[in-house]
Amino acid sequence: MSSRIKALDESVVNKIAAGEIIVGPVNALKEMMENSIDAGATSIDILVRDGGLKVLQLTDNGSGIDKNDLPILCERFTTSKLTAFEDLSSIQTYGFRGEALASISHIARVTVTTKTQSDACAWKVSYAAGKMLGEPKPTAGKDGTAILVEDLFYNVHSRLRALRSPNEELAKILDCVGRYAINAFQIGFSCKKFGDSQFALSVKANSTTRERIRAIFGRVVGENLVELNLAENPQFGVSAHGQVSNLNFVSKKAITPVLFINNRLVTCDPLRRALNQVYGSYLAKGNKPFIFLSLSIRPDLVDVNVHPTKREVRFLHDDEIVELVASRLEDALASVDTSRSFTTTS
Ligand code: ADP
Ligand code: MG
Repeated sequence: MSSRIKALDESVVNKIAAGEIIVGPVNALKEMMENSIDAGATSIDILVRDGGLKVLQLTDNGSGIDKNDLPILCERFTTSKLTAFEDLSSIQTYGFRGEALASISHIARVTVTTKTQSDACAWKVSYAAGKMLGEPKPTAGKDGTAILVEDLFYNVHSRLRALRSPNEELAKILDCVGRYAINAFQIGFSCKKFGDSQFALSVKANSTTRERIRAIFGRVVGENLVELNLAENPQFGVSAHGQVSNLNFVSKKAITPVLFINNRLVTCDPLRRALNQVYGSYLAKGNKPFIFLSLSIRPDLVDVNVHPTKREVRFLHDDEIVELVASRLEDALASVDTSRSFTTTS
């Protein structure tokens, strides 16, 4: 058997790279949703069939894509968002790598329908393996972009086998959309399972944060919230706003905190632990809180160049910032605690 070194086939390289970014339907969905938000959309409608494996369609009312850009839309490392590496430290968009659509097109069938304000009609074209298939065809359509992803992983059998049931993939999609819907102010979201007449999830564009939380996590959570705000702290370059459960909220179910840093959905274990510890001294044993927090940290203090699927975020002054937020939570809970004991004793 020969053991000489050979270059991998380009199509193999592309499929491997795609599999690292798009691990499951929810990763494709997140990338598409972020593109819509980057495009200034105020409405994002999602259709899911077989947990996103058969059909994953996202329709937005954002800027649309210039027809002249369609030929390179799904090529790797083509983006309208980043030009110089130095710009990364001040980047305001979710995207900048130009990898997402390319990756999806290597492991699924992609069809794009898009219309910019200056287009007289919409344009529709399909892609496979990074390449546009034929020429865009004129079609009827509103301003914005619809991206249809079909047969995800049709050519990656090992990945298809490793995925859980369609219902579990749908649950992950709903969880992800719901979290974005809570943080993305002034954007309406809907998500429907193919064949259902009702939406699985629906949030109106003009909903308040509380209404959003209620729509996603239910009435009991929505009615037991207290605001948590941290005014701009110049020393550590941080501010925060959020809604967290008050002390009347009784739930044994652990909900992963809905945590955004600079509008990116992240996890931050030190912060989660610190906040749980504060709750621990107020809540009866076994009771779990609900936490939605949106932190703004000065961009030059955060490392955004993390892998698209890695959610753990790094930032400077983390100890101090965690401490600041935890003490704000302490204040917020203490204030509702006194009002509660006041009303019960009076
Ligand atoms: P990135 O977001 O990193 O630029 P993507 O592969 O996700 O890379 O998208 C490539 C490009 O396609 C984007 O830079 C953007 O110009 C365009 N694009 C993708 N989705 C949309 C959309 N929904 N609306 C408008 N433009 C889009
Ligand atoms: Mg993108």
